[in-house]
Amino acid sequence: MTNQPFFIDNVAFAKKNERIAGDLSLADCSRLNDLLIHSAENSKAISRPAGTISYQLQGKTDAAGQQLLDLFIATNLTTTCQRCLNEMPLKLSLNFHYLIGDISDTDIEAGDVDSADDVDMQQASQTMDIVALIEDEIIMAMPIAAIHKEDCGEIITQSGEKPNPFAVLKGLIKS
Ligand SMILES: [Zn+2]
Repeated sequence: MTNQPFFIDNVAFAKKNERIAGDLSLADCSRLNDLLIHSAENSKAISRPAGTISYQLQGKTDAAGQQLLDLFIATNLTTTCQRCLNEMPLKLSLNFHYLIGDISDTDIEAGDVDSADDVDMQQASQTMDIVALIEDEIIMAMPIAAIHKEDCGEIITQSGEKPNPFAVLKGLIKS
């Protein structure tokens, strides 16, 4: 994987049923990297955000002749639990379906696609930025405040009973 952003002609990609797959590193995704660094600012243990992003993009044409893209993303990232402030793994497995079209053309609606569950519009483009698309989808899928579902570390709390939603603020005051 190069560090260069890469672009596809998404209509041609879909017409030819092309498929690409690969891995990105956080170094390829500076906005996502910044977000993880920001979430780690108050953490106790974390070193640097790390992780990998695997993706597959498949182009296809449906029976109605519409161009579609299927995107699969799997991440294995490290973020910071906002309750115990320790590292926590953030694994995401995401599927997206896009209908390629002219978004300004009101005749095209994602609802017209066969099996139209969760189909998003994607502007027809000869230079669609794949890395930016993948990065956007991960950022939107990330929890605003990541918290361990189990095995959470020592909770920073005043009563010792309920998790303190202001644990992060308390961390700031101490420093
Ligand atoms: Zn935790």
